[in-house]
Amino acid sequence: MRGVIERLSDEGLGILRDGRREILVPHTAPGDTVEVLRWRRKKRKLIATEFKVLEPSPIRTEPKCPYFGRCGGCLLQHIPYEEQLRFKASKLSKYMGLNVNVIPSPKIYGHRNRVDIVISTTGIGFRRYGTWWEAVDIEECPVFGDSSGKVLKALREFIEDEKLSLYDIRKNGGFLRYIVIREGKFTGELMVNLVTKEGNLPESFPDYFPFASSIYWSVNRSDSDVSYGDVERFWGNPFIREKLNDVLYLIHPNSFFQTNSYQAVNLVKKVTELVDGEKILDLYSGVGTFGVYLAKRGFNVEGIEINPFAVEMANKNAELNGVKAKFRVGSDKDVENLSEYDTVIVDPPRAGLHPKLIRKILRDEPEKIIYVSCNPKTLSENLSALGEKYRVENAIGLDMFPHTPHVEAIVELRKV
Ligand code: SAH
Repeated sequence: MRGVIERLSDEGLGILRDGRREILVPHTAPGDTVEVLRWRRKKRKLIATEFKVLEPSPIRTEPKCPYFGRCGGCLLQHIPYEEQLRFKASKLSKYMGLNVNVIPSPKIYGHRNRVDIVISTTGIGFRRYGTWWEAVDIEECPVFGDSSGKVLKALREFIEDEKLSLYDIRKNGGFLRYIVIREGKFTGELMVNLVTKEGNLPESFPDYFPFASSIYWSVNRSDSDVSYGDVERFWGNPFIREKLNDVLYLIHPNSFFQTNSYQAVNLVKKVTELVDGEKILDLYSGVGTFGVYLAKRGFNVEGIEINPFAVEMANKNAELNGVKAKFRVGSDKDVENLSEYDTVIVDPPRAGLHPKLIRKILRDEPEKIIYVSCNPKTLSENLSALGEKYRVENAIGLDMFPHTPHVEAIVELRKV
């Protein structure tokens, strides 16, 4: 089947229309003339698996990365950044039912502060687009930046010198599974976390990474293909630090941090601009990204988060910055007395707010809610439920993830 790509789907794939049928074609641009030879069905969608671009669209730009098109990491490097932003703005506007602008990422290469690199018999790099069993061998990830090249070079030398076995993802055999690289973009501190199956790691391991301030060895004993495990040993500092404006945050191999540090600065600044009053609840507080930043600005902050380790990190972050924010372990569905707070910040996972939390918000009626969302679909569903008592005062998009279809949103809600 051949034709012209009409536009991008919400997932960032080119849409090729054939009567009433749509085929989604990865790594294509609106205006490309394509021929699709094979496709597969994924849930209710048809996704092209073999295709040719017969005539490229005039809007295309040169991807910076040589692995683009094979690597499963980025979908949109061939779309000019302005167009990526327009795509994200229209996606967000569609779900929100109003016009929303998207703040561009201050950098569109070298912005990611974390990469999870698969170490497998099929390659050392990222999963090949559309597969879970195969990796594309890479030398460097331009989205992370130069130090990824340094780490990968050192890792390959270590593997060769010590004759180590790589993981066979299909058979669950082999020793080395992942290397996760994290970097404080504003501090220059680098962390590497090597994830292996059970076994003996040669003593020489840390010698290969003298440029890293924190070196970890973690063990994932399970068959599940995840890039973390139990910490076995570490060398150097137990944490690296990232700095957003004047606030420092600690990063540990098993803790989350916003992945685009440059844009995270805009995220915390925007949230700060929108909060009102004195007493703030940071719900789904993670490592305290918003809470600690706000406490540093004099707000009286409490944080609630389900993951005990994240809470421990958040309290450490408060201490590190000399502020008094209090974070505690708790679940969204059990929060009480929301009326105590002048502003409630919610930053839920992709599934959105728990229905019980929505009921409590509608019962307790805090004056102001700031909803930070990474999923426009659940955001819009939650907003209609809250619409009974809350009005949207402000909605802004932020591009945290250049070259991917994802878009972050901040919505300010006020009690009517
Ligand atoms: N605002 C934080 C993290 C947001 S990610 C930051 O910027 O760093 C969403 C967070 O919600 C995660 O830390 C996750 O552990 C937490 N979470 C998930 N389910 C939850 C629940 N049921 N109750 C409370 N927190 C939850």
